[in-house]
Amino acid sequence: MSISISSGFDSGNINILSITDKPSGVRAELEIVTDHQSDFYQWFHFRVAGAAGREVELAIVNCAGSAYPDGWLNYSARVSEDRENWLLADTSYADGTLTIRLSPDANPVWVAYFAPYSMERHHDLIAFAACQPGVAHRELGLTLDGQPIDLLTIGDGPKQVWLYARQHPGESMAQWWMEGALERLTDDDDSVARLLRQKATIHLVPNMNPDGSRRGHLRTNAVGVNLNREWHEPTADRSPEVLFVRNAMDETGVDLAIDVHGDEAIPAVFIAGFEGIPSITDKQLALYHRYRDTLAARTPDFQTRLGYPVAGVGRANLSMSTNQVAERFGAVAMTLEMPFKDNDDLPDADYGWSPARSMQLAKDCLAVLAEMIEDI
Ligand code: ZN
Repeated sequence: MSISISSGFDSGNINILSITDKPSGVRAELEIVTDHQSDFYQWFHFRVAGAAGREVELAIVNCAGSAYPDGWLNYSARVSEDRENWLLADTSYADGTLTIRLSPDANPVWVAYFAPYSMERHHDLIAFAACQPGVAHRELGLTLDGQPIDLLTIGDGPKQVWLYARQHPGESMAQWWMEGALERLTDDDDSVARLLRQKATIHLVPNMNPDGSRRGHLRTNAVGVNLNREWHEPTADRSPEVLFVRNAMDETGVDLAIDVHGDEAIPAVFIAGFEGIPSITDKQLALYHRYRDTLAARTPDFQTRLGYPVAGVGRANLSMSTNQVAERFGAVAMTLEMPFKDNDDLPDADYGWSPARSMQLAKDCLAVLAEMIEDI
């Protein structure tokens, strides 16, 4: 049987340049496809069939021009034989080419930039959550590809908390985080969940960008728009996803918001805030620092040493959701970033940063929220 590489499925992305099949082994030259109507690319996800018992070298040759070339240094691709467990693959990077070496036991195997979170799993998550007592579901509208933007609401307290993920669709760890958050919030025996549901109303958008997710994009929606640069003036033509969510936020107000992402280059979990917004208050900033420092004390998977540079006074980019939400509502807002690589302070040689760790981080984030909820 000859080797076959394919990506014609949910969040698939790869282009095949050549496959050389010799008795000594198989070598495929591949390239990642850009987001539709955009120059961004970094997400890949494909299937390799006919390779059981063979030595396979997969060379992705266009990495130098990707969105985050620094993301390839000390990075390992994820590989799965059962599509449940995604293990680190033998991966190296040199001269713009990412080389992944496999010798699979099973046939076929799947290879991805990070453990994928499919739209089918999204619908399963919505169905699970919407069936739990005390959870309300609302469809905010349809995307340009005709997919729903789903909002789940839990709790009936006065504090308005918004959690939203995957504005950048290739950052699939963000939706694994959401699954962990929903698991905790819907557990009736969980004291953190019980407290939060009493003190707060929690609004969750588990996937802000279903079109980019299904299309196998890194960073943009169906028409190549980066949703996290649209929050100052979202439009129905370019960014209906943001328009729906921002309008829903305008209805409720926002006291605290977490925008969940993945970072390609930095091997750590960190948050970024809203320091440069025009109307910033000491109280808002103090609560943000308290959240950050409490989370760092709570879990060794979170740290404050590595992160993004902080914007100077009045220099915030209000097209980004964290800044817009902090400015618009006086909220404590933050962008949470998880790594594609690993948390280098606490590495896992088999899995790297993983769905399970993303889910656990969400549970820790909620516990910190519960500690502070009275003061927000
Ligand atoms: Zn992002």
